[in-house]
Amino acid sequence: MRIGIIGTGVAGSLLAEALLGAPGIEVAAFDRIAPGEHAEAGTGLNVGPNAMKALRLHMPARHAALREASLPWQRWFVDLTDGARLFDLDLLEVAEEPGIRIRWSELYRLLRAPSAGCTRHGHVLEALEEDAAGRLVPVFRTPGGLTRHGGFDLLVGADGRYSRLRALACGEPEGTPLGVCIWRLLVTEAADCPHDDYGQWFQGNARLLSFRVPGGAVYIAGTFPLFGADTIPEAMKTAAAQRALFTPAGAAPCPSVAWMLHQVEAQLAEIHWARSATAPLLRHDVSGRALFLGDAAQAMVPTLGQGATQAVECGVVAAQVLRRGGGARDVAAARDARVTFVRDFSLEASDTLVPGCDVVAGTRAKMRPEFLDKLRRTYTEVA
Ligand SMILES: Cc1cc2nc3c(=O)[nH]c(=O)nc-3n(C[C@H](O)[C@H](O)[C@H](O)COP(=O)(O)OP(=O)(O)OC[C@H]3O[C@@H](n4cnc5c(N)ncnc54)[C@H](O)[C@@H]3O)c2cc1C
Repeated sequence: MRIGIIGTGVAGSLLAEALLGAPGIEVAAFDRIAPGEHAEAGTGLNVGPNAMKALRLHMPARHAALREASLPWQRWFVDLTDGARLFDLDLLEVAEEPGIRIRWSELYRLLRAPSAGCTRHGHVLEALEEDAAGRLVPVFRTPGGLTRHGGFDLLVGADGRYSRLRALACGEPEGTPLGVCIWRLLVTEAADCPHDDYGQWFQGNARLLSFRVPGGAVYIAGTFPLFGADTIPEAMKTAAAQRALFTPAGAAPCPSVAWMLHQVEAQLAEIHWARSATAPLLRHDVSGRALFLGDAAQAMVPTLGQGATQAVECGVVAAQVLRRGGGARDVAAARDARVTFVRDFSLEASDTLVPGCDVVAGTRAKMRPEFLDKLRRTYTEVA
């Protein structure tokens, strides 16, 4: 069976590694990036304990490599911007092992290294054709012009949120915006940062999120409601506007918030601004010749840090299914109920980011057994 993988991000690189050398499978991967280019991902991310469990069970060498290059994500606390504590959780109460905090570029470097030998770089998927046997033939734009590498029995779209393969095979998905802006910043000189593990600070429905990552750096992400605007107002992209947004009324910000606001002021030009949106889950095309993994199948809100985490599960589980001789429909059977649960739970957990929700009551509700039970299922129910 000839399998082509478009995109060697999180899901694609794990799938490629796990299929290398599988009897009866020939695997080829393609990515638009140049070899060794991981620079587009300059920030940090937290990867959930469920991704680490999937790797521990099925790809222990990758589990060990990620553990070594990361800090453990074991705590999740939520404060108001004046420092009043609402929520404090030791993740080991609901998980079998900590998650990780890692630099994005480091995650990509470690995941891509094992499959570099079967990856063609500088290949941008452009179009889709069919060969005489009815197999899909991807057409790539390369520095030398349009290029084809023959037909594939299965073509895997692991090419992220704006998947070209999904658009070509099934049409452009319609995204549903959450109605919030999310910005991110990596502070590389952060010795004086007062916090370490994963914290969130709310001012109304606006929220700062931050944690240390290896190499003395700290990742900061800010979220605020857009109140129906379909673009991010330029007036919000100033240090003064962000300071006003995250400063408590009639009180000084706590030391962590004061530190983050200072970083925003000092590094405003480095901030990456985006809007949070989801796309409908789609695992494969009608023929079963195109399979979608990670964000290409299931772009979800980032609230619980499950985007890359679910992409890890996707790569690991799809590899198990394909190695056993299964196809796209079998991957759907193994993944879709789980993804639907996690996607819906991530959306439910986003309540406090949306205007109209009382942040104090909404956050305290997350210490109740119903929420913690869903978190436990998210972190442990790994195939
Ligand atoms: C602001 C923000 C913060 C986030 N924080 C977290 C977090 O803390 N924790 C978490 O778990 N998730 C987080 N996520 C989500 C996470 O980044 C994604 O869910 C994850 O990267 C998806 O992995 P993937 O393998 O599906 O795709 P990606 O990792 O996006 O990889 C896609 C690959 O496809 C390649 N590609 C794309 N188009 C083409 C093409 N046409 N031809 C060839 N190659 C192509 C790209 O170069 C890339 O290598 C965050 C996302 C954002 C935007």
